Amino acid sequence: MGEGMTNEFKSPYTLMKNRKYNTWCRYTARLDSYGRGCLHNCSYCYARHLLDFRKNWHPNEPAVANLDTIRKVVGKLAPGSVVKLGGMTDCFQPIEGKRHTTLETIKMLNDRGVHYLIVTKSATCVFPEYLDAYDPKLAHFQISITSTDDWNGNRYETASPQSERMRACEVLERMGYDVSVRLSPFIPEFVDVSVINAIDCGKILVEFLKVNTYVRRCFDLDYSEYTCSYGGHSNLELERKIELAESLTDFDQRSVGEYVRDHYLYFRDNYNYNPFDCCNLRGIEYDDYPDIGEEPDGDKQMRLFDACDVNGRRL
Ligand code: SF4
Repeated sequence: MGEGMTNEFKSPYTLMKNRKYNTWCRYTARLDSYGRGCLHNCSYCYARHLLDFRKNWHPNEPAVANLDTIRKVVGKLAPGSVVKLGGMTDCFQPIEGKRHTTLETIKMLNDRGVHYLIVTKSATCVFPEYLDAYDPKLAHFQISITSTDDWNGNRYETASPQSERMRACEVLERMGYDVSVRLSPFIPEFVDVSVINAIDCGKILVEFLKVNTYVRRCFDLDYSEYTCSYGGHSNLELERKIELAESLTDFDQRSVGEYVRDHYLYFRDNYNYNPFDCCNLRGIEYDDYPDIGEEPDGDKQMRLFDACDVNGRRL
């Protein structure tokens, strides 16, 4: 599809509401510069699964958000608030190299004084034009790493090689930005912990793999340890998670972002550097714990659509 014919993405802003699970996540405002497809095309991507099902996932032709729409959205965000850049797609997927919608969005957020949390699997976030644009007081980074072996990672993702992502973390760290290694999903079989510990970055955020039928099809793993059933997913037991989290010894600030309620409470009280914010964003102060909501109703199956219930409507 030629540039002029690229389809437009009309609703770049989402606010997650009415969550049954993970009510403690503080960062529910999301701004997507691209939609309906991500060329990284990770085999386990929940957005891909959801939109594929509706025949609305086009990794080679993602829709592009209109900059006037983004400008209006940003104009309504409160200065000092936080928006996550990229909820349903990676805001640094390859089309950004041509369209620069994310770059322009960052400039608007700077002007408005809104913090932006960039979660990406692309090392292109350290290209010079971006380093020139970021405001160090507003920019926060989580660079996702899923394997310590480039070849293995390429079997299920097409984003930057894992080793380049590690180097991107180190570049941002050296430049003084707020950056975390985001070990997510943490799949122990894919990770040499000594390689992760050797990344020259002060912060790490861990999210363990949650297994459902779809994930089982993506990875040829032994799932016998995933015996903790919660929210329609199979999870590692807390003791195993603690053992894995404690093996990450070389970071000054460690956090586990949890989805299982009891596990969240354990890591909040015993492991996380900032018990008030598992994302541990720098320069954002909280004086109380986030709302943990009601205990969900048993092991009620969480449907993928529940996770994507946004702006009071289903995607
Ligand atoms: S980078 Fe993120 S949004 Fe893109 S395909 Fe992978 S998991 Fe999905």
